[in-house]
Amino acid sequence: MGGLLSVVIPSYNEEENILNTAQAIASVLRGEGIAYELLFIDDGSRDATYDRIREAAQADPAVRGIALSRNFGKEACIFAGLNEAKGSCCVVIDCDLQHPPQVIPQMYRLWQEGYDIVEGVKSSRGKESFFHRMSAGLFYKLMSRFTKVDLNASSDFKLLDRKVVDVLVSLQERNTFFRALTFWTGFKSTEVEFEVAERAHGQSKWSLLGLIRYAVRNVTSFTTVPLQLVTGLGIACLIGFIIVGLQTFIRFCMGRSAEGLATWIWAIYLSTLVARSRPVSMSKSSGVSSINLVWQAPARKVGWARMLVTKGMLVLTPRTCSSEMARMALRHTPSKVLSQEVTFTSRES
Ligand code: UDP
Ligand code: MG
Repeated sequence: MGGLLSVVIPSYNEEENILNTAQAIASVLRGEGIAYELLFIDDGSRDATYDRIREAAQADPAVRGIALSRNFGKEACIFAGLNEAKGSCCVVIDCDLQHPPQVIPQMYRLWQEGYDIVEGVKSSRGKESFFHRMSAGLFYKLMSRFTKVDLNASSDFKLLDRKVVDVLVSLQERNTFFRALTFWTGFKSTEVEFEVAERAHGQSKWSLLGLIRYAVRNVTSFTTVPLQLVTGLGIACLIGFIIVGLQTFIRFCMGRSAEGLATWIWAIYLSTLVARSRPVSMSKSSGVSSINLVWQAPARKVGWARMLVTKGMLVLTPRTCSSEMARMALRHTPSKVLSQEVTFTSRES
């Protein structure tokens, strides 16, 4: 099986690399007799990248250039390139020659043997700053855990069969994560190892902020783990809520609750329930239509809940409590109620 090979090359501010890279890839493929097209995607570069792509296209008719209207990021570049590719298979490769073009023929042969995805796997990460190495390591460990796909040594250097490309470009996904999405397609895949070379010219385009944004975007777009974490947290809070309610009840029954605390906790619980149901009217005999208490509980007795409940204000009205609750609340008010702020409003109903 032969066929045209499209090489997709995302390029952002790579004016120094374009001509070199075009030549290096073309000479390897020509040497192996592989029909190719080189697709340079200019990701809104602010230097002369697109001029260099034009020059490369004049020198080699197999070179094509696509200019994005602004800097969309590498992922968007890759998908723009895949969308434009005409080949029976596509290779995605960086513009700085860190992905050695000499590996492409090996990938192509594996594709000829029937593999749909040939994944370039880093045998070493090349020269990177300590911070970059640590943060990338942590990010890929987490992502591998969340997605159940081993991304630790994976890279964007891949060969994809036409059917994989067609599936990827048909996705409606806006926040793409190329590296993991290729696995997700599920087609027959294999790996080739490569050693990350040093960047030919220029500097890495990743800033710290860019890396963090990339990590957060990929974690939130490719996995539901953050959503599950929030759901888990909600369930944990609910369980805590129930446990505190039960504990308060038991301590109250045993006569060991801090003075007034049980009433207040129940009052709060009940008020959330009662407020949703039909208002409970006060019995005329109680003569109390609303109780407005500002109170301070004895901190010594409140213990762990001190921060939350040593001071507070609770307004009980006929809408939120029954007359029985009102009476209970009065019986069990904390000992240090700031009495001058306790107001009883009587209203004949
Ligand atoms: N790149 C891009 N858009 C960007 C950043 C990078 O197309 O916003 C390209 C860049 O030109 C290069 C590839 O993505 O071809 C990898 O970028 P870089 O070498 O900066 O990343 P690193 O190798 O340091 O991970
Ligand atoms: Mg690079």
